[in-house]
Amino acid sequence: MSAPLIIIGTGLAGYNLVKEIRKQEQNRSIIMLTHDDGRQYSKPMLSTGISKGKDADGLAMKDATTMAKDLQVDIRNFQKVSRIDSKNKKVFVQDNEIEYSDLVLALGAEPIRLPITGHEHLMQVNDLMDYRVFQQSVQNKQNILVLGAGLVGCEFAHDLASAGFNVHLVAPETHPLSRLLPKDCGEALISALQDLGVTLSLGRSAVAVSKQTHGFEVTLDDDQKITSDVVLSAVGLKARTDLAKQAGLSVGRGIRVNRQLQTSEEHIYALGDCAEVAGLHLLYVLPLMNCARSLAKTLTGQESTIQYPVMPIIIKTPSLPIVTCPPEDPAKGQWHIDGQSPHLKALFKDANEALLGYALTGNYVAEKFKLNMQLSEHGFQDKEVKVAPKCEIS
Ligand code: FAD
Repeated sequence: MSAPLIIIGTGLAGYNLVKEIRKQEQNRSIIMLTHDDGRQYSKPMLSTGISKGKDADGLAMKDATTMAKDLQVDIRNFQKVSRIDSKNKKVFVQDNEIEYSDLVLALGAEPIRLPITGHEHLMQVNDLMDYRVFQQSVQNKQNILVLGAGLVGCEFAHDLASAGFNVHLVAPETHPLSRLLPKDCGEALISALQDLGVTLSLGRSAVAVSKQTHGFEVTLDDDQKITSDVVLSAVGLKARTDLAKQAGLSVGRGIRVNRQLQTSEEHIYALGDCAEVAGLHLLYVLPLMNCARSLAKTLTGQESTIQYPVMPIIIKTPSLPIVTCPPEDPAKGQWHIDGQSPHLKALFKDANEALLGYALTGNYVAEKFKLNMQLSEHGFQDKEVKVAPKCEIS
């Protein structure tokens, strides 16, 4: 009997891959190894759960046993893979070794830890288990400080304020979502957050956190001191690459794979937040869904090459709907803004007036379908990109 396909990771990348494989082939033996509890959940729901009154169990969809039965796979949860031996095609979990025929790394990304005094007091929410701890620690509290004004920080600030907390958002950028939106759209979001009662300290960084009798005191780089019951850090994510590095795989900002999602080793593949696909490191759901479909074909013996379609990002700030498709290279053109805040249409065009990206807020979000079509016609997004834009979620 041949060795199984091993997938490390039961996040959206791992589970979507198996679902796609099962559409093509029912009998292949598959083992999924995961460090966490293996429950299926939608990670994007973590930043909208508090206002909906959801605890971690309320966000979980299926447990590992049910997933194993549904997908006809062997799921081994609470198993941390410590080493890969690519020569002998084995992975190691503590002292146990498991042989593979093919290996898929769906390891995700981990929160960047701020190198400041008292960083151990910062909370982070990057999976369902983190969410459980966070959701429990905000019970009966009032004041929450959020560090970071990227997608995760802004969505949490919006969600917590909607749930009635006093929220203070601190970030070094001068406008929120600065990697995804032009300044005008970011300013529209500032107003929307302020209308919800969020206090913003932009252009400021936290330099220290200390524990007080009640809660924490955060010192900013202008010496301002803010007290808060809970401090949530959402300052960015970095791909989990340690296992790949140890196995001698090529690693950049993520585990480098080609358009067949193959790493520098023949029988090892990667997808999701841990993977840098043909130079692009995109930490979003749509890229990994496309990769899962493509890799499932490769692993079931069909020729397949990943070609990303236009992949807009929806920001979950319901009081100001936002959708954006940022340009690959901000040096290749300029933003042109239309409308009046909070309803803005920002088009990113090159010198020949070709559309290379867009950002829409308020009523203009309805135009996304038309703009997606235009971008597809121009063959946007997936040319042979060698240098990737900075797309890490923060
Ligand atoms: P993960 O879900 O992180 O899964 C990684 C898996 O690998 C886990 O099962 C872990 O246990 C396992 N693992 C890691 N190392 C080991 C090891 N050594 N041994 C065994 N197992 C291991 N994207 C969007 O497109 N839209 C959104 O609105 C959006 N909102 C988001 C909101 C939040 C709060 C966050 C944090 C992210 C959001 N994202 C959003 C990003 C999106 O959720 C991620 O791109 C996606 O969930 C990544 O899935 P993944 O399977 O690659 O990684």
